[in-house]
Amino acid sequence: MIISKTREEIEFMRESALVVSRTLGMLAKEVKPGVTSLKLDQLAEEFIREQGAIPGFLGLYDFPNTLCISPNEQVVHGFPTDVPLVEGDILSIDCGAIKNDFYGDHAYTFAVGEIDPETQKLLDVTKESLYVGIREFKLGNRVGDVGYAIQNYCESFGYGVVRELVGHGLGKKMHEDPEMPNYGKRGRGKKFIEGMVVAIEPMINMGTKRIVQHNDGWTITTMDNKPSAHFEHNVALVDGKPELLSTFGYIYEALGIESDEEKEFRLNELVL
Ligand code: MG
Ligand code: MG
Repeated sequence: MIISKTREEIEFMRESALVVSRTLGMLAKEVKPGVTSLKLDQLAEEFIREQGAIPGFLGLYDFPNTLCISPNEQVVHGFPTDVPLVEGDILSIDCGAIKNDFYGDHAYTFAVGEIDPETQKLLDVTKESLYVGIREFKLGNRVGDVGYAIQNYCESFGYGVVRELVGHGLGKKMHEDPEMPNYGKRGRGKKFIEGMVVAIEPMINMGTKRIVQHNDGWTITTMDNKPSAHFEHNVALVDGKPELLSTFGYIYEALGIESDEEKEFRLNELVL
């Protein structure tokens, strides 16, 4: 059952999402060659707690860390490690936080130093596909409309859309109804309702859509070992339209990037 949130609850969820947004912004300055993902994990845990929130992934389904950190061919659910980052890597960081009993959950794929243009294209298209999907998250549409839009966009670049892992409803639980696949058919699936909140999160592979689950029970990599990207936003359905709760603004501020990509999904200007 899809749980609709009140305006007040959506504001709580915005705060949870912004805890994660600020954390990713803080990490953006730290992602560089030589740094280990365990160090990033430690910084993130401290930073989340400083904001009066609780790391949302730590202990959830027995996950042992604050961040899921998935470099290069890892799709999602990678563990932080003591292996230093190398120039040219990409690093998907997925972060969750709980504040006022509500979860925030979003993700960004970072470039470590200079990366090759082919990989940069994968990052650009995956992030664009997130907004292509969010645009379809509106009253009158269904789950399949979002999935179709993301799939169609990414496949037009020859990329593989992961099937086994999907976005989800978000609230007092990390995974609520409905499941939000990044593939689908127009007009199919559950109908969207006013006040619902979802995590939309394309996981897109440069090559095959097929993935491998590792023996550690968590890490997932592409079957052809080509890179994979992951971008995730939290979005509420307000007045029939998508309203972004999370922002990449803190990341862009840290990296000196100008972008107005989020503008069409905000009722009010976001003050960082
Ligand atoms: Mg996530
Ligand atoms: Mg998620």
